[in-house]
Amino acid sequence: MIVERRFFGTNGIRGILGKDLMLDFIIEISQSIGTYFDKGPILIGYDGRFSSPLISKAVSAGIMASGLDVMEANLTPTPGLQCAVKKLGYKGGLMITASHNPPQYNGIKVVGSDGVEISREDEAKIERIYFDKSYRKADWKCIGNCTQENSVIRNYIKSVLSHVDINAIKKREFRVVLDPGNGAAAIAAPYALSSLGCKVLTINGHVDGDFPGRGPEPTPSTLSGLSDAVKSYNADVGIAYDGDGDRAIFCDEKGVIHWGDRTGALLLDYILSKNQGSLVITTVSTSQIVDFVAEKNNSKVLRTRVGSVDVSRAMIENNALLGLEENGGFFYAPHMQTRDGLMTSVLMLEALSFINKPLSEILDTFPKFYQRKAKFDCPNEIKKIVMEEIERKSFGRVEKIDGVKIWADESTWVLLRPSGTEPLIRVFGESKDADKLDELIDKYSSITKESIEKIKRGGLG
Ligand code: MG
Repeated sequence: MIVERRFFGTNGIRGILGKDLMLDFIIEISQSIGTYFDKGPILIGYDGRFSSPLISKAVSAGIMASGLDVMEANLTPTPGLQCAVKKLGYKGGLMITASHNPPQYNGIKVVGSDGVEISREDEAKIERIYFDKSYRKADWKCIGNCTQENSVIRNYIKSVLSHVDINAIKKREFRVVLDPGNGAAAIAAPYALSSLGCKVLTINGHVDGDFPGRGPEPTPSTLSGLSDAVKSYNADVGIAYDGDGDRAIFCDEKGVIHWGDRTGALLLDYILSKNQGSLVITTVSTSQIVDFVAEKNNSKVLRTRVGSVDVSRAMIENNALLGLEENGGFFYAPHMQTRDGLMTSVLMLEALSFINKPLSEILDTFPKFYQRKAKFDCPNEIKKIVMEEIERKSFGRVEKIDGVKIWADESTWVLLRPSGTEPLIRVFGESKDADKLDELIDKYSSITKESIEKIKRGGLG
């Protein structure tokens, strides 16, 4: 079910402080969140953005004003906060972060007592409390307390390491280059990997709200520094994180950066080989390499809408072992049903120690799929009608989990999706055959362009 929400986007509330994210709004929405949780204590953490400490204070004020106690975790990667909420017995958590967005943005992510972002339905409940102004205003004697929680990072590293074979990893004495991109992962990942006997070289390792190194979004085009460092340090692997440390992108020993669907497939294969017959949750836009690996290990794949919350919630509902997003999000349920860059990193080190081959060689054993993407400007208000028009003009097997996914043959598909955050329609496709893929993307790019023009001209014809 799609729930209409006004403030909560794909990943919580996002905006620019003082522009579309005002302090009085933050206090009132936090009071509404406190009312939704009903009981405390609530743990509050933040990423390394300039506006994070201030927003955290306003969020604390709102929660305390609703009568709940607050514990402040201060600077932490998002999965560190989520892990503390789950393991240290909090009733809920709030993370101040805008993940990979540019430095001026910030946001609020709401986490339930299980450490996972609350559902879309619960986000809508909070919005209703806000709009009805039915949030609790605690009497002066009943306002919440605020104290410090100092064990978040220690608890996080301990929890992550408890899920891997520490001795097997230590024996290999891996050489690893870490690139936290000046984000919050810098305060946990280098220490965790050093404790696994790795020789760690860290680049962009100081936390800085301007993200001066390579920006907060790790993509093949922003990671040339990591690639160079891996080659000159003669490292076994390089790992880059996004701004709040919940996603990890890997670089092989030759300096080649790999997208998250291929390295994720390696991890799936390694974990599923020991857990045959499991369930994997992934999004509608993820490569069919996931199906290939699942089938090989007698396991099943269930696809959701695009968004990490959708993956997490589907994992809980279906008792899935693993989850995967192509952007480097990897979910390992025994740890948490939420993505975690550090957990992903140590699972990769364990896989490398047992498979005992260079990362590039292991990745070469997986089938190659070609992928292509395009995007077209489309005003938000006509997106829905444009999508209906595209669907009318499409032929082949159609799936409608999120947007329209059209299968041209067994291994060739194109996905057309309106962007959740920008006035765009995205076209993304995959095939084993490069020519077939080009033909399909060109065809649906034309259909998309024509549909947008037609609706703009004002007729559905
Ligand atoms: Mg993130």
